[in-house]
Amino acid sequence: MSEDAIKETRLLKQHLRDLVDQARKNEEKMRRFQAIELQLISASNMLELIETILYDYREAFHLDALTLMLLDPTNEFERILKDDNTNPEEHPNLLFSISPEEIQLLDSLSIFPTLGRYKKRTHTILFPNAHPRPETIAILPLVRHGKLIGCMNLGSYQSDRFENGSATDFLERIAAIVAISLENTLNSERLKRTGLTDPLTRINNRRFFDQRLGEEVSRAHRNAEPLSCLFFDIDYFKRINDNYGHQAGDQVLAEVASLIAIQMRTSDVLARYGGEEFSALLSDTDVGKAMEIAERIRQNIEEHPFKIDQHTTINITLSIGVSTLIPDGDQSGLKTYASWLVGYADRALLQAKETGRNQVKCAGIIHASTEEQFQGVVLPSMQLESSN
Ligand code: GH3
Ligand code: MG
Ligand code: MG
Repeated sequence: MSEDAIKETRLLKQHLRDLVDQARKNEEKMRRFQAIELQLISASNMLELIETILYDYREAFHLDALTLMLLDPTNEFERILKDDNTNPEEHPNLLFSISPEEIQLLDSLSIFPTLGRYKKRTHTILFPNAHPRPETIAILPLVRHGKLIGCMNLGSYQSDRFENGSATDFLERIAAIVAISLENTLNSERLKRTGLTDPLTRINNRRFFDQRLGEEVSRAHRNAEPLSCLFFDIDYFKRINDNYGHQAGDQVLAEVASLIAIQMRTSDVLARYGGEEFSALLSDTDVGKAMEIAERIRQNIEEHPFKIDQHTTINITLSIGVSTLIPDGDQSGLKTYASWLVGYADRALLQAKETGRNQVKCAGIIHASTEEQFQGVVLPSMQLESSN
């Protein structure tokens, strides 16, 4: 063989090796992609979906930065995550807030991915936590039924990773899968909630509260943390209906619910227990703190002007009952502790009503104890400390 032919054969062999290598890499990429795709489609709730996007996708594709920005004008995504006991702030790369600049940026997006160099002026809002900042980025618009629902933003320290003009089929496909998964999960979360939300006040209903009660008592035992329960009842609520009509009553109920809700932490469970009664579970909250929170809510309602119509503003008051469970780590009898917690808050509420209304009362602290020592009321495995 001539020297030229040998050289050419060597080059061809190298070329073939490169092609096989590339094919192997593509196959591997496809395999990772399919695994993530399956994970996205089968996410059983919003948190799982968001974690798959933010962490699993980022790791599988060795991205130096990844954020997900969701258009959430009614705070629905945020509410869903909070209901699932997740603080969205724990995921700093999940972005919701829609400032005018963000809207402008999103408006300027085409329906295709945008690839290119990171520009500080326009892209900082998409990567607020990326240090150092990426060299190149890909902005993938998430579109459903012709409407933008957010964007997924990928960043790399490599200057040739996301080059303007390179093929985007793969990125378009992932964006479509993410958008469909977000829509499906949102729909299923909405469906889940219709049975657990009170339509008038938009807060949880009693069914949700009863479900969470068991979980919260069990968690309090596991973490050896106190759990407090508040019961609220609007004073002389019937008079509002009688004097201003049922519709005005409904309006007041919804307003009271949102006034209580804004005083709660994300980890707290608030529900409409029935009629004009609300209940709340405050995790890791001792009796002193629970009384303080209850008192703050009571004052807030007392001072709030409720506008009935253009000419009428009324004031209302709340009576509140408090109970606290101090767990001992013994997991037996959790159900009993749950019913005591509610029973005692209810009893305290009755005391508040009977002794003048517009006040907070605590019936006692429940020490979950295996020893049968009681003060006050005789109940098995329970100690009562009078605190009021
Ligand atoms: P108290 O201070 O003893 O709690 O007096 P109250 O008038 O608040 O209590 P009562 O139990 O006598 O009346 C509760 C009223 O709440 C009666 C019921 O018609 C009204 N109510 C319950 N659910 C709703 C509702 O969804 N909308 C309206 N408008 N009223 C409701
Ligand atoms: Mg009542
Ligand atoms: Mg009442």
